[in-house]
Amino acid sequence: MNIVLLGYPGSGKGTQAELLAKKYGFMHISTGDLIRQEIAQGTALGVKIKDLISRGNLASDEDTVRLLINAINDRDDGIIFDGFPRTTAQAQTLDKYLARHGKKVDDIVLLSMREEVVLKRITSRRVCSVPSCGAVYNATSPDFKEICAKCGGTLVTRPDDSLESAKHRFEVFKKETQPLINYYQKSAGFKKVDGNGAPAEVFAGVARALGLKK
Ligand SMILES: [Zn+2]
Repeated sequence: MNIVLLGYPGSGKGTQAELLAKKYGFMHISTGDLIRQEIAQGTALGVKIKDLISRGNLASDEDTVRLLINAINDRDDGIIFDGFPRTTAQAQTLDKYLARHGKKVDDIVLLSMREEVVLKRITSRRVCSVPSCGAVYNATSPDFKEICAKCGGTLVTRPDDSLESAKHRFEVFKKETQPLINYYQKSAGFKKVDGNGAPAEVFAGVARALGLKK
Protein backbone atom coordinates (compact mmCIF):
# COMPACT_ATOMS: atom_id res chain seq x y z
CA MET A 1 0.00 0.00 0.00
CA ASN A 2 1.51 3.29 -1.15
CA ILE A 3 0.07 6.58 0.05
CA VAL A 4 0.42 10.15 -1.10
CA LEU A 5 -0.40 12.75 1.56
CA LEU A 6 -1.50 16.13 0.32
CA GLY A 7 -2.09 19.16 2.49
CA TYR A 8 -1.63 22.87 2.89
CA PRO A 9 1.46 24.36 4.50
CA GLY A 10 0.66 24.11 8.21
CA SER A 11 -1.70 21.15 7.72
CA GLY A 12 0.52 18.96 9.87
CA LYS A 13 0.89 16.38 7.12
CA GLY A 14 4.46 15.68 8.23
CA THR A 15 3.13 14.83 11.70
CA GLN A 16 0.44 12.57 10.21
CA ALA A 17 3.00 10.80 8.03
CA GLU A 18 5.22 10.21 11.07
CA LEU A 19 2.30 8.84 13.07
CA LEU A 20 1.37 6.46 10.25
CA ALA A 21 4.98 5.32 9.91
CA LYS A 22 5.30 4.71 13.65
CA LYS A 23 2.03 2.88 14.13
CA TYR A 24 1.76 0.92 10.89
CA GLY A 25 5.38 0.57 9.79
CA PHE A 26 5.25 2.64 6.61
CA MET A 27 8.41 4.15 5.21
CA HIS A 28 7.98 7.93 5.51
CA ILE A 29 9.56 9.81 2.64
CA SER A 30 9.62 13.56 3.08
CA THR A 31 11.16 15.29 0.09
CA GLY A 32 11.68 18.38 2.28
CA ASP A 33 13.86 16.28 4.65
CA LEU A 34 15.69 14.64 1.74
CA ILE A 35 16.51 18.05 0.29
CA ARG A 36 17.66 19.42 3.67
CA GLN A 37 19.88 16.34 4.17
CA GLU A 38 21.39 16.65 0.72
CA ILE A 39 22.19 20.33 1.38
CA ALA A 40 23.66 19.54 4.83
CA GLN A 41 25.90 16.86 3.29
CA GLY A 42 27.19 19.42 0.79
CA THR A 43 26.99 17.09 -2.21
CA ALA A 44 27.16 18.59 -5.72
CA LEU A 45 23.41 18.14 -6.02
CA GLY A 46 22.93 19.70 -2.56
CA VAL A 47 24.96 22.77 -3.52
CA LYS A 48 22.94 23.15 -6.73
CA ILE A 49 19.61 22.90 -4.89
CA LYS A 50 20.74 25.29 -2.14
CA ASP A 51 21.60 27.86 -4.76
CA LEU A 52 18.17 27.49 -6.41
CA ILE A 53 16.33 27.77 -3.09
CA SER A 54 18.34 30.82 -1.99
CA ARG A 55 17.09 32.53 -5.15
CA GLY A 56 13.50 31.74 -4.19
CA ASN A 57 13.04 28.73 -6.49
CA LEU A 58 12.16 25.12 -5.82
CA ALA A 59 14.30 22.10 -6.59
CA SER A 60 13.63 20.88 -10.13
CA ASP A 61 11.35 17.91 -10.81
CA GLU A 62 14.30 15.94 -12.13
CA ASP A 63 16.50 16.51 -9.06
CA THR A 64 13.64 15.81 -6.66
CA VAL A 65 12.81 12.54 -8.41
CA ARG A 66 16.49 11.55 -8.34
CA LEU A 67 16.69 12.13 -4.59
CA LEU A 68 13.46 10.28 -4.03
CA ILE A 69 14.41 7.20 -6.05
CA ASN A 70 17.80 7.03 -4.28
CA ALA A 71 16.06 7.23 -0.92
CA ILE A 72 13.47 4.54 -1.54
CA ASN A 73 16.28 2.38 -2.86
CA ASP A 74 14.20 -0.03 -4.92
CA ARG A 75 11.49 -0.29 -2.31
CA ASP A 76 8.13 -0.14 -4.05
CA ASP A 77 5.55 -0.76 -1.36
CA GLY A 78 4.52 0.55 2.07
CA ILE A 79 5.67 4.10 1.39
CA ILE A 80 4.10 7.39 2.44
CA PHE A 81 5.00 10.25 0.17
CA ASP A 82 4.99 13.57 2.03
CA GLY A 83 5.65 16.73 0.02
CA PHE A 84 5.85 14.78 -3.21
CA PRO A 85 4.49 14.92 -5.85
CA ARG A 86 4.04 18.67 -6.02
CA THR A 87 3.06 18.82 -9.67
CA THR A 88 1.11 16.67 -12.11
CA ALA A 89 4.36 15.97 -13.97
CA GLN A 90 5.91 14.59 -10.76
CA ALA A 91 2.78 12.50 -10.13
CA GLN A 92 3.08 10.95 -13.58
CA THR A 93 6.78 10.23 -13.00
CA LEU A 94 5.95 8.51 -9.72
CA ASP A 95 3.17 6.48 -11.37
CA LYS A 96 5.58 5.33 -14.08
CA TYR A 97 8.26 4.39 -11.56
CA LEU A 98 5.85 2.33 -9.48
CA ALA A 99 4.27 0.74 -12.57
CA ARG A 100 7.69 -0.57 -13.60
CA HIS A 101 7.70 -2.44 -10.27
CA GLY A 102 4.11 -3.61 -10.74
CA LYS A 103 2.91 -1.20 -8.05
CA LYS A 104 0.92 1.99 -7.83
CA VAL A 105 -0.18 4.81 -5.58
CA ASP A 106 -3.08 3.10 -3.81
CA ASP A 107 -4.40 5.94 -1.72
CA ILE A 108 -4.25 9.69 -1.86
CA VAL A 109 -5.22 11.54 1.29
CA LEU A 110 -5.97 15.24 1.07
CA LEU A 111 -6.02 16.97 4.46
CA SER A 112 -8.63 19.61 3.80
CA MET A 113 -8.54 22.76 5.91
CA ARG A 114 -10.26 26.11 6.16
CA GLU A 115 -8.13 29.10 5.24
CA GLU A 116 -8.40 30.73 8.67
CA VAL A 117 -7.19 27.52 10.35
CA VAL A 118 -4.22 27.29 8.00
CA LEU A 119 -3.26 30.92 8.61
CA LYS A 120 -3.61 30.56 12.37
CA ARG A 121 -1.43 27.41 12.41
CA ILE A 122 1.30 29.04 10.35
CA THR A 123 1.40 32.38 12.19
CA SER A 124 1.40 30.76 15.64
CA ARG A 125 4.49 28.71 14.83
CA ARG A 126 7.64 29.63 16.78
CA VAL A 127 11.08 28.19 16.21
CA CYS A 128 14.13 28.02 18.44
CA SER A 129 16.70 30.57 17.28
CA VAL A 130 19.63 28.27 18.12
CA PRO A 131 20.56 26.86 14.68
CA SER A 132 21.70 23.46 16.00
CA CYS A 133 18.35 23.04 17.80
CA GLY A 134 15.57 24.44 15.62
CA ALA A 135 12.76 22.99 17.78
CA VAL A 136 9.27 24.06 16.68
CA TYR A 137 6.49 25.23 19.04
CA ASN A 138 2.94 26.44 18.78
CA ALA A 139 2.26 29.76 20.50
CA THR A 140 -1.42 28.88 21.04
CA SER A 141 -0.74 25.71 23.03
CA PRO A 142 -1.54 26.01 26.77
CA ASP A 143 1.98 25.13 27.96
CA PHE A 144 3.71 27.56 25.59
CA LYS A 145 6.71 29.50 26.98
CA GLU A 146 8.87 32.11 25.30
CA ILE A 147 12.03 30.03 25.69
CA CYS A 148 12.99 26.69 24.16
CA ALA A 149 12.19 23.73 26.41
CA LYS A 150 15.03 21.73 24.84
CA CYS A 151 17.94 24.17 24.97
CA GLY A 152 16.76 27.41 26.61
CA GLY A 153 17.18 29.36 23.38
CA THR A 154 14.98 32.31 22.37
CA LEU A 155 11.96 31.50 20.22
CA VAL A 156 11.32 33.50 17.09
CA THR A 157 8.78 33.68 14.27
CA ARG A 158 10.31 32.79 10.93
CA PRO A 159 9.90 35.57 8.34
CA ASP A 160 8.06 32.97 6.25
CA ASP A 161 5.45 32.61 8.98
CA SER A 162 4.24 36.23 9.07
CA LEU A 163 0.56 36.73 8.19
CA GLU A 164 1.39 38.37 4.85
CA SER A 165 3.73 35.58 3.88
CA ALA A 166 1.32 32.89 5.13
CA LYS A 167 -1.50 34.34 3.00
CA HIS A 168 0.80 34.39 0.00
CA ARG A 169 1.88 30.78 0.56
CA PHE A 170 -1.75 29.72 0.91
CA GLU A 171 -2.67 31.32 -2.43
CA VAL A 172 0.38 29.91 -4.21
CA PHE A 173 -0.31 26.44 -2.84
CA LYS A 174 -3.97 26.57 -3.91
CA LYS A 175 -3.06 27.67 -7.41
CA GLU A 176 -0.18 25.23 -7.86
CA THR A 177 -1.81 22.22 -6.25
CA GLN A 178 -5.26 22.36 -7.85
CA PRO A 179 -4.15 20.60 -11.08
CA LEU A 180 -2.54 17.87 -8.95
CA ILE A 181 -5.73 17.45 -6.91
CA ASN A 182 -7.72 17.28 -10.16
CA TYR A 183 -5.33 14.58 -11.39
CA TYR A 184 -5.70 12.47 -8.25
CA GLN A 185 -9.44 13.02 -7.87
CA LYS A 186 -9.95 10.72 -10.84
CA SER A 187 -8.28 7.91 -8.89
CA ALA A 188 -10.43 5.45 -6.93
CA GLY A 189 -8.06 5.83 -3.97
CA PHE A 190 -8.65 9.56 -3.49
CA LYS A 191 -9.84 10.55 -0.01
CA LYS A 192 -10.51 13.86 1.64
CA VAL A 193 -10.00 13.99 5.40
CA ASP A 194 -10.90 16.85 7.75
CA GLY A 195 -7.57 18.38 8.79
CA ASN A 196 -8.95 21.17 10.97
CA GLY A 197 -8.78 19.34 14.30
CA ALA A 198 -6.04 18.40 16.75
CA PRO A 199 -3.37 15.96 15.43
CA ALA A 200 -4.91 12.93 17.22
CA GLU A 201 -8.37 13.64 15.77
CA VAL A 202 -6.95 14.10 12.29
CA PHE A 203 -4.96 10.88 12.66
CA ALA A 204 -8.10 8.93 13.60
CA GLY A 205 -9.78 10.29 10.47
CA VAL A 206 -6.81 9.40 8.27
CA ALA A 207 -6.60 5.83 9.63
CA ARG A 208 -10.36 5.37 9.18
CA ALA A 209 -10.24 6.67 5.60
CA LEU A 210 -7.40 4.25 4.82
CA GLY A 211 -9.22 1.35 6.46
CA LEU A 212 -6.34 0.75 8.88
CA LYS A 213 -7.06 -1.07 12.15
CA LYS A 214 -7.09 1.00 15.34
ZN1 LIG B 1 16.25 25.13 21.28
